[in-house]
Amino acid sequence: MRQVELAVIGGGSAGMAAALGAVENGVKDVLILERSFEYGGILEQCIHNGFGLHTFKEELSGPAYAERYHELLEEYPEISFQYESAVLKISEDNVLTVTGRNGYEEIKAKAIVLATGCRERSAGAIGLRGDRVQGVYTAGTAQQYLNKEGYLVGKRVFILGSGDIGLIMARRMTLEGAKVVGVAELMPYSNGLARNIKQCLEDFDIPLYLSHTVKAVHGKGRLESISLIAVDENRQEIPGSEEIIPVDCLLLSVGLIPENELIENMGIEMDKRTRGAVIDSTYMTSKEGIFACGNALHVHDLVDYVSEEGKRCGKAAAEYILNGKKEGERTKSVLHKGISYMVPQSFYKGSDIDFMFRVTGIYKKAKIHVYGEGLDKRIPQISLVPSEMVKIHMKKEDLDKLQGELHWEVEE
Ligand SMILES: Cc1cc2nc3c(=O)[nH]c(=O)nc-3n(C[C@H](O)[C@H](O)[C@H](O)COP(=O)(O)OP(=O)(O)OC[C@H]3O[C@@H](n4cnc5c(N)ncnc54)[C@H](O)[C@@H]3O)c2cc1C
Repeated sequence: MRQVELAVIGGGSAGMAAALGAVENGVKDVLILERSFEYGGILEQCIHNGFGLHTFKEELSGPAYAERYHELLEEYPEISFQYESAVLKISEDNVLTVTGRNGYEEIKAKAIVLATGCRERSAGAIGLRGDRVQGVYTAGTAQQYLNKEGYLVGKRVFILGSGDIGLIMARRMTLEGAKVVGVAELMPYSNGLARNIKQCLEDFDIPLYLSHTVKAVHGKGRLESISLIAVDENRQEIPGSEEIIPVDCLLLSVGLIPENELIENMGIEMDKRTRGAVIDSTYMTSKEGIFACGNALHVHDLVDYVSEEGKRCGKAAAEYILNGKKEGERTKSVLHKGISYMVPQSFYKGSDIDFMFRVTGIYKKAKIHVYGEGLDKRIPQISLVPSEMVKIHMKKEDLDKLQGELHWEVEE
């Protein structure tokens, strides 16, 4: 059976960064298994600008960011890519079952990094009501059709959900000649980055209907119209507020779900909030030797954070391969008011740690209160919104003072 030191599943930004982090820290043999025929993952269909401001100090398109990152990997002959190779299964003793370019094969790895990304919630997942019609797509599928295959999937378009992919597609379809008649958002605030609201909707006079949803889709064969309806503060539809809007295309931008089928049936502990694996500060899951990073771990807003996290994960996998599992007691994070999730969920003291999380509401001039026995810190934030991931860097000296659990809350 073929043997490698580190197998990375997924060749998107997280997988590439994990491979880089691993070889920079002494791993001699890294194999990236990618089911597509190219590296880059989701970046390859994101032809808009806005990638890499932190990593390369430049505003790049998605494919340009992927190419630039891939050049960093080319410096290392220790890293190899195997394309058109989907991992189907991981066994108890870290043997990967792979199918694709080399037929069916088994590969044994000392450590595995899961960097499988995420997928979009579909019409079925949100229980979209109405006729069974053509013309309803997830925003990412429409993006792939347009940016990679050259097909515009509709001429008169409505978008449900104000996540970043939906916002980007509102602009993209407008630029390609479609009429985007509106974007509806169930919540009273947008779920996209503020810059995308400005640049993708306001600059093109596309209306954003906050506290609204699509009640149903109508048509015979092809989508002909949608019913837009307002919702109250409990997200319940308000009778009588319904409006029929003629469209031939509805794009759904209603959330992303980490792709974790590979580990869900392995008994690995999962986090109900992130829908990714529970990890410690070495990015190791509850199964020894299996690590996770990127959108497979928790959905990120910026690629720079994915790359940073991937590198930290690769470094930690290298330390595991070279020195074995980290010894010592782990400390848990306990979440209170305003914090929706926290990654890592537990940590080892003795080093600086980047904690990443999202908040549950909109806060202006709030503080992140981090406390426990021996530690009490308030970190001011100009603004906090659920759509933007927050990263707090905690110093070793502070964490080492802590006795017991670490508590987190938003203080207004
Ligand atoms: C539409 C959109 C717009 C964005 N816009 C911006 C922006 O403007 N600026 C910014 O900074 N960030 C942006 N982001 C965020 C950022 O680009 C992504 O979060 C990041 O690229 C995700 O990287 P990833 O490696 O975790 O996942 P992915 O890129 O999804 O990579 C996962 C890879 O794993 C492979 N894979 C999955 N399962 C298997 C398997 N079983 N076997 C083998 N391979 C497998 C997939 O084929 C894929 O290549 C955007 C994201 C999206 C979706």
